Amino acid sequence: MQVTVSPIDQGVKGYNNYGAWLRKKYNGQRVFKVIVDGGFTCPNRDGSKGYGGCTYCNVDSFTPSVSRKAPSLREQVIQGMERARKGNKADKFIIYFQPNTNTYAPAHYLKMMYDEALSIEPENIVGLSVGTRPDCIDAEKIALLESYTDRFDVDLEMGMESIYNDTLAQINRGCTHEELLRALELTKNSKLDTCVHTIFGFPWETHDMMLAYADEINRHEHIKFVKFHHLHIVEGSVMGVKYKREPFKLFSLPEYTDFLCELLPRIRPDVVIQRLFGLSDRELLIAPNWQLKKSEIQHYIDKAILDRGVLQGAAL
Ligand code: SF4
Repeated sequence: MQVTVSPIDQGVKGYNNYGAWLRKKYNGQRVFKVIVDGGFTCPNRDGSKGYGGCTYCNVDSFTPSVSRKAPSLREQVIQGMERARKGNKADKFIIYFQPNTNTYAPAHYLKMMYDEALSIEPENIVGLSVGTRPDCIDAEKIALLESYTDRFDVDLEMGMESIYNDTLAQINRGCTHEELLRALELTKNSKLDTCVHTIFGFPWETHDMMLAYADEINRHEHIKFVKFHHLHIVEGSVMGVKYKREPFKLFSLPEYTDFLCELLPRIRPDVVIQRLFGLSDRELLIAPNWQLKKSEIQHYIDKAILDRGVLQGAAL
């Protein structure tokens, strides 16, 4: 029997996708992120910026349950590597400090945490990825992260979420777009790879308002990576409580796919897209429930992009 391999399975996509970028950068080795929780908190939760957090946030919703149960940083790294080796035949790893605000501590403490995570099988670690808020970045922390770049690729992922201050206020972000711009200025001439994270689908943002995110990303030439998320509502968040009381319109999968097919041609072709959609654990997800596994959603979107001949950057 002849097995037909689809273009998507061969890695052909209409956008500059992270998987292909990693394969090229690391000479075909299988590189996977190991998510770790460094036990940091968040200034938008502990009161220094606000209480209750961003209204869409339940920190647990963006960490796989397996990482949440691991007791120590060391064990999280060891177990994460083991899972990636078993499940994905991983060769090399990027240590990814994801939940909460992973630069929200004094620099000496951050160094201790990053050092510890990177000390486990350093010969098999190729990168450090740190997720944070723009208002928790300063020159000292940039310098600390840069100090690792002689041994690892280091990327700093900042939540842009929306380019509109009105939205940032409505979601209790406790951080303005100008603060993101200041953080982007700090990373501009650094050795760090800059990544921004956005959310599409706030019900008060129009289609055109969302498409305008592309212009904002494009004008910062050192933005190397982006992560796109659709708004999803999770248990344990303020938005979750509001949504249950008064549901509002969220993207269906076909609608979100249509939106991405319009957005991608407006994004600079050199920007590497780490993610096109977000997904939380099923037990935490309230809506929208697209009733598909992550790989099925990815395939649905990739297929639409390919079938429609969508090409990143084509509209520029
Ligand atoms: S989304 Fe990030 S910044 Fe907002 S409350 Fe959650 S951890 Fe804090």
